[in-house]
Amino acid sequence: MTQHVLTILGSTGSIGESTLDVVSRHPEKFRIFALAGHKQVQKLAAQCERFKPEFAVVADAEHAAALEQLLEPADCNTEVLYGAQALIDIAAADEVTGVMAAIVGAAGLPSALAAARKGKTIYLANKETLVVSGALFMETARANGAQILPVDSEHNAIYQVLPHDYSGRLNTHGIESIILTASGGPFLDTDLATFDHITPAQAVKHPNWSMGQKISVDSATMMNKGLELIEAHWLFNCPPDKLEVVIHPQSVIHSMVRYLDGSVLAQMGNPDMRTPIAYCLGLPERLESGVGALNFGTLSALTFREPDFKRFPCLKLAYEAMETGGGAPCVLNAANEEAVAAFLAGKIRFTDIARIVSHCLEQGFSDGIGDIDSLLAQDALTRIQAQKGIGALVMK
Ligand code: NAD
Ligand code: MG
Repeated sequence: MTQHVLTILGSTGSIGESTLDVVSRHPEKFRIFALAGHKQVQKLAAQCERFKPEFAVVADAEHAAALEQLLEPADCNTEVLYGAQALIDIAAADEVTGVMAAIVGAAGLPSALAAARKGKTIYLANKETLVVSGALFMETARANGAQILPVDSEHNAIYQVLPHDYSGRLNTHGIESIILTASGGPFLDTDLATFDHITPAQAVKHPNWSMGQKISVDSATMMNKGLELIEAHWLFNCPPDKLEVVIHPQSVIHSMVRYLDGSVLAQMGNPDMRTPIAYCLGLPERLESGVGALNFGTLSALTFREPDFKRFPCLKLAYEAMETGGGAPCVLNAANEEAVAAFLAGKIRFTDIARIVSHCLEQGFSDGIGDIDSLLAQDALTRIQAQKGIGALVMK
């Protein structure tokens, strides 16, 4: 049996912890080469003690010193590294066979790209990588033989119900469209007149999924589904007009593929990220994940409805950015990251998130965007524009 040697980028986050939970159920199958946990040194120290990686990566020298101190009495020989280059190094190291890309935001892009350049198997949770640099990332992976396995539950579901020999061309396989399901988040039925008063605490309280703060706010605005449309566009080479979104508040069907003979194939399960993570880590085998069996006796109903762009303007902005292409998705993502952080910090209103994103898209962007430097330059410029917009909106 070959043992997978893993680097987990973002090990201290929601996806990172779920990944380690799955790994711990199959110690014979996996060895942890490196863990990256940014500023969460306490959690990272506990993970190092338990999984004994060769390397642990944190944000900066200060956090490295703190982690070293915590690890001093521990029974592990983990070497502590820090900074952006260290993330790239642990993703690209020769020993590594698989990389879990679970950093949040565009900060995860350079390390995911480095893994693609080295032909690693990439378990991709960080959807922002595909939103910002979809063409570059997919081409880099293709050219270097890197396999990309989608961790995001919707894309994982689609991956599971696509034909196994899916060639990247819908027509060849008789596929009519790809249908992303969305829970609709916590404000699906909230009175629109009260949206200005939504608090961060309310926005991060997702009805079905337990996730990091940023993606929880994205789910509440449905920007998450917008980012996922762009993610699906690149992963499955699916034209925008073949992507559908349907709201399904129970989050039992994780997404679907519609075939031209009238069949619609769905993947179902309890909403727990350990299922898609175990699927990716186990391929071609199925691994026990710790997720309970779906109980049809207690499922009262599966319901569906159309998304409403008035309630969820971020979803519309994402559709438009996908159709525009070029630098638009990069702008969409950077503006959204800044706006969500400002909302979580109590600086702007929930409804301002869409305003900031729209404001940044209106500033325009160059068409000829494609290489990593121009993408990162656009990302940085948009963040400045977003901060100016946020400054003008800050609540007194
Ligand atoms: P999280 O906030 O719980 O964890 C983020 C991780 O990234 C942490 O380990 C954190 O220390 C690290 N990190 C934060 N900023 C960083 C930076 N600047 N540089 C390096 N590391 C940094 O987030 P999460 O919910 O686990 O989500 C991670 C990614 O997975 C996101 O892209 C998200 O969209 C995607 N995703 C998450 C879920 C979910 O259920 N949580 C589902 C699908 C996709
Ligand atoms: Mg998802």
